[in-house]
Amino acid sequence: MKSLVWKIGLFIILIFCIAYASSAMDKGRPYYEKRGYVLWDIQTEEKIIALTFDDGPHSTYTTQILDLLAQYNAKATFFVIGERAENMPDLILKLGQEGHEIANHTYTHPYKITPEKLEDELKKTNEIIHDITGTYPLYYRPVGGTYDDRIINTAVENGYRVVMWSWHQDTEDWKSPGVDKIVSTVLSGAKPGNIVLFHDAGGDRSQTVKALEEILPKLQAQGYEFVTISELLEITSMSLKN
Ligand SMILES: [Zn+2]
Repeated sequence: MKSLVWKIGLFIILIFCIAYASSAMDKGRPYYEKRGYVLWDIQTEEKIIALTFDDGPHSTYTTQILDLLAQYNAKATFFVIGERAENMPDLILKLGQEGHEIANHTYTHPYKITPEKLEDELKKTNEIIHDITGTYPLYYRPVGGTYDDRIINTAVENGYRVVMWSWHQDTEDWKSPGVDKIVSTVLSGAKPGNIVLFHDAGGDRSQTVKALEEILPKLQAQGYEFVTISELLEITSMSLKN
């Protein structure tokens, strides 16, 4: 009898553990994508690509990248860190004036965050960007690309669309893998509607800048146009429905 009670007790504990584990997990790409909560890339015939830059702004690298983008009439999206943006308002202003999109990458770039803290960091960064540019960002990218249900729900409830990147377009430039490696990752996988992940701060990003010097003319020669996330959604008529 005693052992039966033990077994029932253990079974109940097991059920609770499973329920807790599944609630902490994410629902998967099809679920989020269908509802328009999260964007990875777009299926389209249009030869458009969205270049995205995380962790900036940076006085050297972001400026160099802006010069290159201007040279190729390319527009990009910058997922900036709020506390960096706060210290470099002129650069944020320049990003906006040159037609690039500014998006939210939290205030302090924490790798682990509670929903309450995330809400706080998103709002803080939002206000900083709005104070400088007069425009509120629409998109948020989780730090390290790490997300779960709670992270996505918090972002969506606060009016953001979560923007990831095409999985085959992760340049891993933060590891400084070599200019050739960054170039080949982007060029070999380039398809219409791709979202490419670069970093313009957080370390030595000279390889990112050098890689762009090759990537931009080569993709342009293939007929690609470089657009912001909003333009990507607009052109493909997949704008946020909620
Ligand atoms: Zn980041």
